[in-house]
Amino acid sequence: MSSLTDRRVPGLVRGSLITLRRRCGKPTCRCADGAPHETPALSYSFQGRTRTVTLRAEDLPAVHAALERYATARQRLEDEALAGIEALRARVGHPER
Ligand SMILES: [Zn+2]
Repeated sequence: MSSLTDRRVPGLVRGSLITLRRRCGKPTCRCADGAPHETPALSYSFQGRTRTVTLRAEDLPAVHAALERYATARQRLEDEALAGIEALRARVGHPER
């Protein structure tokens, strides 16, 4: 179940966490001659392009956890596929089966 009002962070997220830095352009803002504004974001590639999703600071721990779950799931899939290849090799080695 998901909807526009569902603010929970998804279980799996792909990409990497970055910090966007920008100056807002207001001449009286502290960023005019000080440090730029910093916004956490998720950077990910999609159809050959890099995209970003800006994040709220309070969502960072959950996004980080979702990234780790993705890495774990991806590694599990990779291991399973490699085991499948080894199984194929074994079949070729034993054509009677
Ligand atoms: Zn500013």
